[in-house]
Amino acid sequence: MRAFLSPPFLNGPDERDLLLAALASGYIAPCGPMVDALEREAADRLGFAGALATVSGTMALELLARALEIRPGDEVIASDLTFIASVAPFADRGARPVFVDADPATWCVDVALAERALAEHPRAKAFVATDLYGQCCDLDPLIALCARAGVPLIVDAAESLGATYRGRAAGKGAWAAVHSLNGNKIVTAGGGGLLLTDDPALLALCRGIAGQAREPVAWYEHRRLGTHGRLGNVPAAIALAQFRHLGDALRDKAAVWDAWLARLPSWATPMPTASYGVPNRWLTVVTLPPGKSPLRAVEALAARGLEARPLWKPMHLQPVFRDAGAVLAGVGEDLFARGLCLPSGRGLAPALMDETVEVLETL
Ligand SMILES: *Cc1c(COP(=O)(O)O)cnc(C)c1O
Repeated sequence: MRAFLSPPFLNGPDERDLLLAALASGYIAPCGPMVDALEREAADRLGFAGALATVSGTMALELLARALEIRPGDEVIASDLTFIASVAPFADRGARPVFVDADPATWCVDVALAERALAEHPRAKAFVATDLYGQCCDLDPLIALCARAGVPLIVDAAESLGATYRGRAAGKGAWAAVHSLNGNKIVTAGGGGLLLTDDPALLALCRGIAGQAREPVAWYEHRRLGTHGRLGNVPAAIALAQFRHLGDALRDKAAVWDAWLARLPSWATPMPTASYGVPNRWLTVVTLPPGKSPLRAVEALAARGLEARPLWKPMHLQPVFRDAGAVLAGVGEDLFARGLCLPSGRGLAPALMDETVEVLETL
């Protein structure tokens, strides 16, 4: 490939320097000064009371599912247009998902449909709202609806690190927010995640569950089941260096978005930008006109070494979720049929964008 969808980006000597410092300190462990510094940096910078560094974004969601003691028969309401990791940790513990369609104005969960889902499923154990492709969901009304229903709101902000909603960090004000530090995300440790919350009791509970739920006594005592979910000190060093360059990442991603907009023909419609926030422009995503199929575009671009992808396939269309509930309006299905994610790496060469447009023209 000559242009990847979202390749990792190294900011210079900082990642190497902190990595070597981690090795020199001898902390090759699931704890240590880099983990502590990463958690402090993330919480302070994003304005949360606390953060927990995890082995993946999926694990951060799993810790929340475990904290909620999700079990068979429970219901969890979730965004329909998302990556499966938003819901898999809940469904895997036996919950039945109820998927809520996207709002055509934001591509994130539709607030009116969310209200209907909460009314129809008042005993839901959680509401998982995804910030899609770097754009925050409409947080304030979701917070109000979930508070009224007594349902904890989790924001899957895996794609929206650095994005803001009415001046606040992604997910701020929800019960918990989750970021991913996977290799394709805007800040990466190769793999990793962050759980953010303003609830110190929830943070302590998740920290405990991530350490096999050991009771705080000298011997190994367990009152509940946990897992091994904490990020190691070595990857945390890379993540910390990357985090310190979050501002650079946001600037570069915005530049890639602007460069795409400057050369995309009028038949390609960019994902709408909601007026309530500033997206992190993780991916540049467009919808194509009738006659230009995203699947054919992906194929034609791949033949030239240019990586593009269809949108996330809506969850209610996934065979694994055939028994799930749903509150739909046809928006996610329509976007999936027309949408294309373009190569969006930091520093993507303009010539490769021009070539991509040429290929799309010939479809
Ligand atoms: C990347 C991503 C995740 C999962 O993150 P990992 O760190 O890869 O486990 C979850 N949800 C969404 C929407 C994502 O894009």
